[in-house]
Amino acid sequence: MRVELSGFGGWPRHRTELVPAPPPARIPAALVPGTVARGNGRAYGDAAIGTVRTLWTGPLDFVEAFDAQSGRITVRAGLLLSDLIAAFLPRGFFPPVVPGTRQVSLGGMVAADVHGKNHHRAGSFGDHVEELELALPEGTLLRCSPTRNPEWFSATVGGMGLTGVIVRITLRLMRVETGWLSVRAAATPDLAATMQALVAAERAFEYAVAWLDGSARGPRRGAGIVLAGDHLPLAELPGDLRAVPFPPARGGRITMPPLPVPPVNRLSLSVLNRLYRTVQLRRLERVEDWDRWFFPLDALSGWNRAYGPGGFVQYQFAVPEGPARGVLGAVLERIARRGLRSSLAVLKRFGREGRGLLSFPLRGWTLALDFPRTRDLPALLAELDRIVLEAGGRIYLAKDARLPAATFARMEEGRLGRFLDFRERHGLARVFRSHLSDRLGL
Ligand SMILES: Cc1cc2nc3c(=O)[nH]c(=O)nc-3n(C[C@H](O)[C@H](O)[C@H](O)COP(=O)(O)OP(=O)(O)OC[C@H]3O[C@@H](n4cnc5c(N)ncnc54)[C@H](O)[C@@H]3O)c2cc1C
Repeated sequence: MRVELSGFGGWPRHRTELVPAPPPARIPAALVPGTVARGNGRAYGDAAIGTVRTLWTGPLDFVEAFDAQSGRITVRAGLLLSDLIAAFLPRGFFPPVVPGTRQVSLGGMVAADVHGKNHHRAGSFGDHVEELELALPEGTLLRCSPTRNPEWFSATVGGMGLTGVIVRITLRLMRVETGWLSVRAAATPDLAATMQALVAAERAFEYAVAWLDGSARGPRRGAGIVLAGDHLPLAELPGDLRAVPFPPARGGRITMPPLPVPPVNRLSLSVLNRLYRTVQLRRLERVEDWDRWFFPLDALSGWNRAYGPGGFVQYQFAVPEGPARGVLGAVLERIARRGLRSSLAVLKRFGREGRGLLSFPLRGWTLALDFPRTRDLPALLAELDRIVLEAGGRIYLAKDARLPAATFARMEEGRLGRFLDFRERHGLARVFRSHLSDRLGL
């Protein structure tokens, strides 16, 4: 079936042949030149759109094996994180790393080597994967792990679907006594204070993240709220919650309808920022259910439509520890100077490099910024690219929709050659091609 597809940002859109994945053994026969896998389409840009064919892994959605002693689990790669949690949280298991939405497939989590709010302790998702099985052209199903075909493993974790179709994943879930977390919120007056508070929160808590107030101006730029959390053991759960140690997901209770005029504008952004701040600071110490803590955005289903038919762009970069303070300040200053506003700004700290050849995390800081797509945005983002490049930083491909190939090549100078060489040597470059890989020369 030929369709027009986009990523979560709604832009760009490309025509492609969308094909549901057959059982693993038959996938190699479905791999025509110009194919890429698509999980649940939560990458923001063009990563999950094949130049010719897009293989949707939705049908590969079940659990093959689980060992309740060790938490070791083998799943088909199209399984959604939301379904995994729904099935295993009531048994006292939770994934060791989760991104900011549960509407992703496990295959997509490996291919982007996703990170969560606990990178400083747990690393990224690929750090918890024990084995992968890949469907390759010419009828092959290949198993790889950190010790078996390790080159394949390292190219595939964070490899954005460009090394094969991941069909099976074995990882270890972690034990939790409840589905509740103790959460602490602290307001910060400026960027230096936000960074300092985040570092302090990481030392004391399993999870830590900062929300930056997009409406803060002048010396208050970089002000925000640092949120920190820990899984709550059963013994510490308040009495009234003991009856529901594992609360179910809230579900997308409110659905944003498609609107002809985008409700996200300067005024609504200011109001939303203020509202978010008020809600977060109402109770500084509280108990929150897992869904509210890990996936607050999932409560408003289809919120990406709030940007209207033109869509939006998320710009997420990572920079090394050394220059981070200066880079973050410069980025916020450029946004303000150009009179633009980011609708969402989330700051996290990464503890280490990822395991994959092209994994996004590095030892340093990462900032994710959402912007409505306006006429002035490309010039601003080009300016931010230069700042990130000069600082030795990189852009998150799972969020990218617009990075120029030349900038990407300079940012990834050290690792890109090895990835390209791997693709060429194994005859992957002709078969696995997405609009992202064509755009970036990947
Ligand atoms: C609201 C929101 C919050 C987010 N928060 C975070 C966050 O906190 N941290 C973070 O790291 N990411 C975050 N993300 C990004 C998201 O986790 C990644 O883009 C993830 O890859 C999406 O999974 P998916 O199944 O939707 O993959 P898709 O979008 O369908 O695909 C993403 C990439 O994975 C490849 N892929 C998918 N399945 C397979 C497979 N079986 N075999 C080979 N390749 C495959 C695709 O080819 C593509 O390159 C967020 C996204 C959203 C929308």
